[in-house]
Amino acid sequence: MRLLQISPRIYQDETIYSIAARLILNDLSASVCSGMTNVLGSRNYQIDSGLPSFLPRLAEVTGCETETLLNNHSLFNFYSMFSVSTAREAAKEMLLNGNSSGAFKALGMLANRINDERFLKFCPQCMREWEFAYGDLVWLRDHQLPLVSVCAHHRIKLVQVERRRYKLMFPRLNCESEINESVVDFKIADFSRILPTLGSFEPQKLRLTYLQRLAERGLATDKTIHLSKWRPELRKYYSHLLIDERVAQLLNDNREHGFPANIFYNKFGSHHPLKHMLIICFLFEHVGDFVVSYSAADKKALAEFKLSQPTPQLEIDHGRREKIMYAVKNKMSLRRAMKYANVSAATVRNIASGSGLSLERRNQKLTHDVVRSITLRLLVGYKTQEIAELTGVLVGDVEQILTGQPEIKQLRKRIRFYSRRQAARSVIKSEMACCDKFRVKDAKERCYSDYMWLYKHDREWLKQSINNA
Ligand SMILES: [Zn+2]
Repeated sequence: MRLLQISPRIYQDETIYSIAARLILNDLSASVCSGMTNVLGSRNYQIDSGLPSFLPRLAEVTGCETETLLNNHSLFNFYSMFSVSTAREAAKEMLLNGNSSGAFKALGMLANRINDERFLKFCPQCMREWEFAYGDLVWLRDHQLPLVSVCAHHRIKLVQVERRRYKLMFPRLNCESEINESVVDFKIADFSRILPTLGSFEPQKLRLTYLQRLAERGLATDKTIHLSKWRPELRKYYSHLLIDERVAQLLNDNREHGFPANIFYNKFGSHHPLKHMLIICFLFEHVGDFVVSYSAADKKALAEFKLSQPTPQLEIDHGRREKIMYAVKNKMSLRRAMKYANVSAATVRNIASGSGLSLERRNQKLTHDVVRSITLRLLVGYKTQEIAELTGVLVGDVEQILTGQPEIKQLRKRIRFYSRRQAARSVIKSEMACCDKFRVKDAKERCYSDYMWLYKHDREWLKQSINNA
């Protein structure tokens, strides 16, 4: 007979995922799928905390009110704080009735095409304290907000664990704490944590707040925003976050009038909160600085800003295309065409071949300088494709130079080997650091491909490290 759990525990600040995962794992079913069916009535739910679709059912099982679950345990307040009030109310209503996709749509999150957070995150020090106080481990809401990578209380880097649909997980104890010194990361954590607790922000007034600060910093006048100056500054400010595909996508060099311009020109669209967070953290020193500026922003002053419409992206693309066609028709070399149209080699080739034109293969030999720069890059291990892009020659040319240099070929093989080995070793080491007793079984479970690579190529080190763990 299955024992029914009475009033399951719900901790303050823990996420919907955390509550649901504990219930499902406590169900003692043979698998997560059957646990989900027993507890939530279906195995088809996506167990997440952002805008979850199973709130009514979870409320029934836990005895906690649906609205309390939404306000105190989901990320709804974060995701909706920059939306207009009608959209926010509509999304809330939908979530209370279990309609998650409707809520995503109402908040404009589908149109934004920004991926969800791939990781579950926890702070090792918070977990030690939590275990001491409650004898339990939980996922905390502030840590799961997108782009947040540091615990605002302890200034410690959050440990990330990749989410898997049918594997429910909890934080681990005894992970090493690593201090994070990045001011930007700390600001993102602080803003993301505090702003949703202050209520919501009206889009029109937000734009004015941004514009006034931009003007103070010389990045806008009352007629125009200096995007060509602002975007490089944003890229520089967030350079360490460009490895995150969402940030890279938003600050992509080829989308001049995408972000951040669309926040100002597409006035009626809803925007993903990440876009606002990137602007706010860049423009304001701390939460107080932002709140004071926002409160002081005067609606009447918006009339002073008569921003002229930017050139649409389509027009920019068209102009680029024209330039490339001109260059190709006039038999410019690939390198000159790249420089002339300010685009990559691949773009020139694609547009030329798409229009049925073939690029003139240069008859003259590569100059001494070009050969030298290719050789140097080959020596330090650049990929041939990258070298071709950077120097504006064909991949075939680079490969030809490589063929004539067997020593460099050998060296490149060694470089590849050592970097692969270094990467695999550091994955194993970081997994070890998070584990009390690290065994072969753990290695296979958590980082199979790295384990297998080391087993094949670096078995001594692997054996020794696992034995010493
Ligand atoms: Zn912490």
